[in-house]
Amino acid sequence: MPEEPCQCPDCQRFYREHDRLIRENPTLRQQQELSWAALQSFRTLAGRVLEDLQKTQPDPDPALASAASGPAATGGPADAGDQEAMAQALADLENINAHLFSIEALMERIFDVRVPEAVEQKFRELAGELAPDPLNADRLRLNRLLHQTPDLPG
Ligand SMILES: [Zn+2]
Repeated sequence: MPEEPCQCPDCQRFYREHDRLIRENPTLRQQQELSWAALQSFRTLAGRVLEDLQKTQPDPDPALASAASGPAATGGPADAGDQEAMAQALADLENINAHLFSIEALMERIFDVRVPEAVEQKFRELAGELAPDPLNADRLRLNRLLHQTPDLPG
């Protein structure tokens, strides 16, 4: 028997979003465009933030930094901690951007594919099964049936 999917608020939000993306983008073409737009917007924003933060960072060379100000001259331990957290965040963002770049290269191959209309029709058909309109009459009836089943929670 398959395990019941988790019903915590985060997972439920994910299921809703997942289903909405299928419902609103029920063809291969639309899924390609959706993923591409999501990837590009992520890259644009994260890349721009990284670029901006790097401009405001002090010189990373510790010899220069201590020569200029002496040890702990410009701030206490809180400042050092802040700088460390910022340096870590910049390294994380650099990693994210490098990964997004790799994903883009992989995705380009997925996005070159075009399928005949009959296959797109199959996409639409199964999208309707996987993520039916939540206000659709069949779905409401099914929900009522499920909620009457005694061994299901809710
Ligand atoms: Zn969960």
